[in-house]
Amino acid sequence: AAEEGFDLEDVEGAIEAAGHGPLPVLAVVGRPNVGKSTLVNRIIGRREAVVEDKPGVTRDRVTYEAEWAGRRFKVVDTGGWEQDVLGIDASVAAQAEYAIEAADAVVFVVDAKVGATDTDEAVVRLLRKAGKPVVLCANKVDGPSGEADAAYLWSLGLGEPHPVSALHGRGTGDMLDAVLEVLPDAPEQTFGTAIGGPRRIALIGRPNVGKSSLLNKVAGEERVVVNELAGTTRDPVDELIELGGVTWKFVDTAGIRKRVHLQQGADYYASLRTAAAVEKAEVAVVLIDASENISVQDQRIVTMAVEAGRAIVVAYNKWDTLDEERRYYLEREIETELGQVAWAPRVNVSAQTGRHMEKLVPAIETALAGWETRVPTGRLNAFLGELVAAHPHPIRGGKQPRILFGTQAGTKPPRFVLFASGFIEAGYRRFVERRLREEFGFEGTPIHISVRVRE
Ligand code: GDP
Ligand code: GDP
Repeated sequence: AAEEGFDLEDVEGAIEAAGHGPLPVLAVVGRPNVGKSTLVNRIIGRREAVVEDKPGVTRDRVTYEAEWAGRRFKVVDTGGWEQDVLGIDASVAAQAEYAIEAADAVVFVVDAKVGATDTDEAVVRLLRKAGKPVVLCANKVDGPSGEADAAYLWSLGLGEPHPVSALHGRGTGDMLDAVLEVLPDAPEQTFGTAIGGPRRIALIGRPNVGKSSLLNKVAGEERVVVNELAGTTRDPVDELIELGGVTWKFVDTAGIRKRVHLQQGADYYASLRTAAAVEKAEVAVVLIDASENISVQDQRIVTMAVEAGRAIVVAYNKWDTLDEERRYYLEREIETELGQVAWAPRVNVSAQTGRHMEKLVPAIETALAGWETRVPTGRLNAFLGELVAAHPHPIRGGKQPRILFGTQAGTKPPRFVLFASGFIEAGYRRFVERRLREEFGFEGTPIHISVRVRE
């Protein structure tokens, strides 16, 4: 590194920053208008840049990456919520339930000016039941005179209320310090696999694509393992199912089986549920209804799994209904609409007839193998050296930026750090990713590539 002009400490820092495993998840919950979204914006510093330029892709995004005091974590924003026909209590409860489910710790936001309401009390009961660490945020304490209002919230029995003004930033630092004290370093879910627990699968897809049919098919025909293996289930909503001689954990199956019929805000709940399931899983099986046009909603769900960095399998369901014409158009649609997961294993199934169910497990195993692939540094650099020699970066402003060396900083999904002598254009980065995939596989996994440029 030194002879290439990089400071060794910078190199190590870059590798460490890129090499983190799955991040712990913080959920921000509370009634409407207590200031959840304002607080989330404050925590993440700003609205994250819109990375996708496709319309709708980020519209109901619910998870963001954040950093405080040098620690990184994810924040689930439940502020996009709208009141619906179920009435306020049921809606807040449903919303909080999903978010708490996916979280390693929770910030419960209460409007200190209003004080604790019955709805707040209902959320407190949910929080108790879930048993996750909670930090109580007494929001809208814009100045010292509001501190007394905050103190009243001791009555909720959740410990110290942290007086905060999400709007002005007052007290948010102290509150985040308290959050970091209770937030685990890695998602708790991950510890399960570290000691050889079952692999975790999220079955996701828009309403009516056939998720519950597929789940019933796989759970019904195979032996359903009773959830009594010590330490494998914390969670009654997850289900252990034996497939191909191996026990898998299907996460959030209750969310699939329980039909939440909502009029307004149904899409939002669906996104929240999907985000929660994806966070808990290692591999996402994205179900697409092959009989219908691939929609923006399908793309959005795929994007969620990609951005969460999960292994991905795409299952085209209802294959029994396709005629030749539909099959023709489907292939075109897949090319144009789902190019972002062209690397994902694909299965064409029918949850109704059971067609190709046996192909699901091999596809999942392939995706998980890609997700865990580690390329030795020597091999990577031999590959990069050849690549750069054969296909140099275009010359810009009389200079030719070059990739000097690289390393794989992490797996699950694979993360690479490349060190370069100058700015590497997006097109060339994509080219490098494509060639990496050709060379090393990575079937079924997103890969992250970050580039460090020599000062
Ligand atoms: P959410 O529905 O819980 O996500 O609430 P929002 O973040 O949308 O906030 C609801 C309203 O409360 C908005 O008008 C915010 O500007 C306001 N608000 C949020 N935080 C504070 C605060 O700390 N102090 C004051 N005075 N107003 C706030
Ligand atoms: P979910 O909302 O994603 O859980 O979807 P469901 O499993 O409830 O399925 C929605 C509808 O599609 C139901 O009427 C199912 O019977 C039907 N369905 C599901 N899978 C298939 C399939 O493979 N073929 C056909 N023809 N219908 C299916």
